[in-house]
Amino acid sequence: RMVSLKEAKMGVASSQVVDDGKTPINLDHGDPTMYEEYWHLVSEKTTIVIPGNQGISYFSDVGNVCWFLEPQFARAVTRLHEVVGNAITEGYHIVVGTGSSQLYQAALYALTPHGLLEPIDVVSEAPFYSSYPLITDFLESGLYRWGGDAYKYDKDGPYIEIVTTPNNPDGLTRWPVVNRSGGMLIYDLAYYWPQYTPITSPANHDIMLFTVSKCSGHAGSRIGWALVKDEAIARKMTKYIEISTIGVSKDSQIRAAKVFDVISDSHEHKGSFDGISPFFDHSYDQMTRRWQQLREAVSNGTLFSLPDFPPSALCTFSGRTFAPISAFAWLKCERVEHCANFFKQYNIYVRDGSFFGTSSNFVRISMLDRPEKFEMFIQRLMSIINSFST
Ligand code: PMP
Repeated sequence: RMVSLKEAKMGVASSQVVDDGKTPINLDHGDPTMYEEYWHLVSEKTTIVIPGNQGISYFSDVGNVCWFLEPQFARAVTRLHEVVGNAITEGYHIVVGTGSSQLYQAALYALTPHGLLEPIDVVSEAPFYSSYPLITDFLESGLYRWGGDAYKYDKDGPYIEIVTTPNNPDGLTRWPVVNRSGGMLIYDLAYYWPQYTPITSPANHDIMLFTVSKCSGHAGSRIGWALVKDEAIARKMTKYIEISTIGVSKDSQIRAAKVFDVISDSHEHKGSFDGISPFFDHSYDQMTRRWQQLREAVSNGTLFSLPDFPPSALCTFSGRTFAPISAFAWLKCERVEHCANFFKQYNIYVRDGSFFGTSSNFVRISMLDRPEKFEMFIQRLMSIINSFST
């Protein structure tokens, strides 16, 4: 069913969704399809045409450290960071990647000192993003290996710590936790955008990873970017991408540039948006409403629990004071051991907490899916809770 303009503006898909209790509901991946309806509202403004003769060459900007970076994309990224105030770009090199997943690998490659006797440990505080161990150990590299929970890490020698802030899965603000020097840091700032968390200051770390996927929701374009202070590191990251994929799709970069310019315009030139809310206001409202629905449902019983509200902070971008709103619900089953298996019985598919370095009492549930699916999930969750409270 096509959502009406009014419904879409409200971020409400349909009050007609009635859960049959059986339709599989897959909320395992963080697929950001929630954003589709906003992009439907501004679909004309974001349409681009790429003529057949455009973008044929491998090269984009041969004078740049990242020679496959489209200048248009670089400008749009710089502008968006300035509009939002979430990262410093002055004095940084931008390295574009096929998703921030590729940049994660490029950063590991670039930071690893070659010639070590053993692979260097890569750690992150649990619960950590479940893909880190998979990506790190996939090729059984001689350069680096997954070292687990940064909080428990007490070995000597060099290491790499991934600081994901706000964090996937729980949305909390994070700092480095390994309690000694000699570490190298990668900041994964995929969720440092104002629909998820208050922007408190422009980030200025040595290596910062961002992705279109969680900012605008265009995960299918597979575009991420890194802001890198040190030129030698930026060059090594560029080399990694050169060797693995000879650059990054220009078509995708140009599309992402357009999407970002429309986001910036929606905030800077509100008047020309036919009453459509600016992007980060719309997405913030949607996320807030979803969390209210979820908290209300969960509070009806004692079967499940959610983390307490984290502390609020003033967002320098929106002027609102609010607590981080996670892109995922990090939910605990209070009465069963294996929470994901429990949900499976009801045809709800969510990710087992053990993939995040914690216990199977927890599951991660995507909050970013299409409105109909989220609505169905809430209905089914309420009926499960009700059936256990009688
Ligand atoms: N980092 C974090 C913390 C993520 O949650 C994700 C997406 N789930 C990524 C990186 C990867 O994003 P992508 O490769 O789509 O840019």
